[in-house]
Amino acid sequence: MRNRFCRLLVVAICLPCFKLSAKEYLTGIEWQEPPIVTPGAENHLPPSDAIVLLGDGDLSAWSGAENWKVENGVATVGQGMITTKQEFGDCQLHIEWSAPTPAKGTSQERGNSGVFFMGKYEIQVLDCYDNKTYFDGQTAAIYKQTAPMANAMRPPGEWNAYEVFWTCPRFNDDGTLKSPAYITAMHNGVLMLNHFELLGDTPYDRPPQYTAHPPKGPISLQDHGNPVRYRNIWVRELKPAVGKRTREPFYRDGEKEWPVSEDR
Ligand code: MG
Repeated sequence: MRNRFCRLLVVAICLPCFKLSAKEYLTGIEWQEPPIVTPGAENHLPPSDAIVLLGDGDLSAWSGAENWKVENGVATVGQGMITTKQEFGDCQLHIEWSAPTPAKGTSQERGNSGVFFMGKYEIQVLDCYDNKTYFDGQTAAIYKQTAPMANAMRPPGEWNAYEVFWTCPRFNDDGTLKSPAYITAMHNGVLMLNHFELLGDTPYDRPPQYTAHPPKGPISLQDHGNPVRYRNIWVRELKPAVGKRTREPFYRDGEKEWPVSEDR
C-alpha cells in the first residue's frame, strides 16, 4: 500500500516535468533535403559526386602534362606545372602523393612539389621525413604564411594523403577584398591547418597579397624539379546547405506556438 502511494507521488511530481518537456524549439528555417551522396567503398575513394582528376587512367583532366609520366594511375612530376582544365571555387580535395626514393637533397630540395588553388595559393608538398627546413615551408605549410600544426610525414616511397577543404577568397566589384581564403587540411588523417585564414597569395620573394580574380580557378601541381608521384586525386565542389527563413524562431507545445522573443 505504502509502495503504491510512493509511486503515485512520483508520478504526480513528474507529471508537470513531462508537460514542460513537450515544449520544442524550432528555428523557423525550412531546409531543403541534403542530396544523397554515395561514399566510396573506402573513404579515400571518390564519392558519387566527386570529379576525378586522376583515377586509374591518364592526366587528360590536366593541361601542361605532356612532359609528366603517367602509368597505372600514378603520375610523376615532369617538366612544368600542370593545371586542371576545370575550374573550382570552394571545394574538398583529396590527393595522394609519394616522395622520391631514395631521398635526395636537403631542406627545400627534397621531394618538393605543391598543390596550388586558383593558381596562387600553395599548400606545400615536401619530403619532411627526417628532413628539416623552415617550418612555414615544410609539408602542409601554407607557404611563407604558417607552419602546419604537426609533421605526419611517411617515409619516402610510401603514400601520403591530403584532405583539403578550401574556401576561396571573395572580392568586391571595386577589386577590394570582401572575405579572405580559408583552408582546413589533414595530412594522413592528422589535422594540420584548422580554418586558417590566408593573408594572400604564397610567393617566394615578397609578402602575401590579395589581387582580385574570378570566383573560380584551376588546381595546379608544382614542378620543383623533384620526381614526386601523385595518384587518386578527386575534388568535390562545395554547395552550402540551402534553407529559407519562413518565420522567426519559435516554440511549440501541442497546438500552441509562440515566438522565442515572447517567451516567458
Ligand atoms: Mg613547393
